[in-house]
Amino acid sequence: MKKNLTRKKTHTKPNPCLKCPALCCHDLATPFDRPRDQEDIDDVMWQLHYDSVSIAIRNQRWYQVVKGRCIYLDKKNMCTIYERRSEKCRQHNPPDCEKYYPWYDLIFHTPEELGEHLAREKEKRNKRRRKA
Ligand code: SF4
Ligand code: SF4
Repeated sequence: MKKNLTRKKTHTKPNPCLKCPALCCHDLATPFDRPRDQEDIDDVMWQLHYDSVSIAIRNQRWYQVVKGRCIYLDKKNMCTIYERRSEKCRQHNPPDCEKYYPWYDLIFHTPEELGEHLAREKEKRNKRRRKA
């Protein structure tokens, strides 16, 4: 998630960022409204036709995730603008970062994966309605 995490260029020991391939500086996650109707679902499915795009869910919130790498990372995965990096980059540090756990609860890489998830959710809702 692009997210809020920091990649330091200078460190004191031990610093987990040194042995990390800058996971927090890859892949842009942008929140969007949960699909409400079939038109919304079709739109999200269409996004998943692209191999650079995934859809993630975290705490009930939906994200479009685009594969990529921050343009300010150098070849050694160090931030080249560390002193003037954005506020988002400053907000999180290890161990509250994806080196230690996935930032999402669920992730879908294809329309089929998302379709199966939506079918499961629909089945759960139907079961709840039948019990009510
Ligand atoms: S993912 Fe965590 S350990 Fe890796 S560079 Fe980012 S903050 Fe450091
Ligand atoms: S600006 Fe620096 S800390 Fe922020 S995502 Fe890019 S490389 Fe990482």
